[in-house]
Amino acid sequence: MSAIKDLTRVTTRFAPSPTGSLHLGNARTAFFSHLWARKSGGRFILRIEDTDAERSQIRFRDELMADMRWLGLDWDEGPDVGGPAAPYSQAERGEFYRTLYDTLEANGRAYPCYCAPEDLELSRKLQRMSGKPPRYAGTCRHLSAAQRAERETRGLKPTLRFAVPNDQVIEFTDVVHGAQRFASNDIGDFIIRRDIGTAAFFFCNAVDDSVMGVTQVLRGDDHLTNTPRQLMLLDALDMRRPGYGHVGLLVGADGAPLSKRHGSTSAQEFRERGFLPAAILNHLFRLGHASDIDGWLPEADMPAHFRPEHLGRAPARFDETQLAHWQKETVERMSAAQFGRWLGADDSAEFIELVRHNVVLPADAAPWRAVVRGDLPPLGSAELSIVAAAGPEFFAAAAAAFDQSRSDLNQLTKLLKERTGRKGAGLFMPLRVALTGQAHGPELGPLLKLMSPETARRRLESHAQNT
Ligand code: GLU
Ligand code: ZN
Repeated sequence: MSAIKDLTRVTTRFAPSPTGSLHLGNARTAFFSHLWARKSGGRFILRIEDTDAERSQIRFRDELMADMRWLGLDWDEGPDVGGPAAPYSQAERGEFYRTLYDTLEANGRAYPCYCAPEDLELSRKLQRMSGKPPRYAGTCRHLSAAQRAERETRGLKPTLRFAVPNDQVIEFTDVVHGAQRFASNDIGDFIIRRDIGTAAFFFCNAVDDSVMGVTQVLRGDDHLTNTPRQLMLLDALDMRRPGYGHVGLLVGADGAPLSKRHGSTSAQEFRERGFLPAAILNHLFRLGHASDIDGWLPEADMPAHFRPEHLGRAPARFDETQLAHWQKETVERMSAAQFGRWLGADDSAEFIELVRHNVVLPADAAPWRAVVRGDLPPLGSAELSIVAAAGPEFFAAAAAAFDQSRSDLNQLTKLLKERTGRKGAGLFMPLRVALTGQAHGPELGPLLKLMSPETARRRLESHAQNT
């Protein structure tokens, strides 16, 4: 395993645990990391944090990678493309971790802990009851060799704990939160290897960032208090510290962390609903990142406008109305061919041109498709009152006029105006509602041309009887 030490290049990474699909909050951190690397001509690494064998799944890993590619977040090093610090799945890095565990133990910086989960839970409870923050009491830190051997013969499987040094101050400058200062005395000895032998998060996350040459870690600020632990570990191993930046969480409209009850939360769900990568990225670009550009940005221009120093610590509010705005902007910028492919329904060129400005998601085209080649849904109450106000005689006249005008809307309205004396909205609205079922929508003239004359006439006729 060779280490990368080209620290002249900005190197960022995304380090997801493959335990679910790509949450928009994680997509945002990945995106910022990607932007930072691309902005600086640096490297972006994808590392899969899958040492928790029970919760990690290959399926999730594959989905995460597919979602990232879909968003355009390509990586220079990763599990599939390889790279100088391979392997990029932590489950395959056990050998490297073992050498570091040996070093830590040999130097007295780590020790086996035989405490049973029940004992630890009890100890935490007692500490909480006496008003102290719960942390490991250090029970196994000073076991003699004989005491260890005795526990081993009882078949106890130890975890490995890092021996946190006393009376140290850990300082670092967070890109987002500024100067940070923690006291080691507030931090209990923490687990760096599970009892089943796999590497624990604090450990493998930190040593991999270091050995992979990551210069800038960006992650959610739920990790901010983990950083002093990880820095002590790296210091104990004499490994280089990366820089850290902890960004504010993604929250829903009510200020609570974005979750299922807010609606869609994963990149996959938005993709399936028909949202476009550029729309999602335009929204994420401005979430917790004060942008100097207000308007829609093409993906290719985003790196140049990314400012790590403009990342905010306040929770960032995800808002589907904002997303819909960027989606509309993105749809407007598609070519007719792209737009047609995106609708995915073999629509005619005329239809595509006509509905372009009435569609935010592919599903929005369905009612208009029904207008030109299907059946209208029952009228809503606003539409019903427009029809009632026009009256059956109006529609009888309209059906009769249609026999002369056929699908020429100008001709139809002209004849109808002569015969009923109506004009403007009083003429136009009932026609639109009868023909399309809706009071709003794409231009009526071209829509009328796209439906069969029989259908159009039947729709007008259907309102000509008193009901
Ligand atoms: N696997 C960790 C997570 O998904 C990575 C945290 C980090 O970015 O350091 O929370
Ligand atoms: Zn113990």
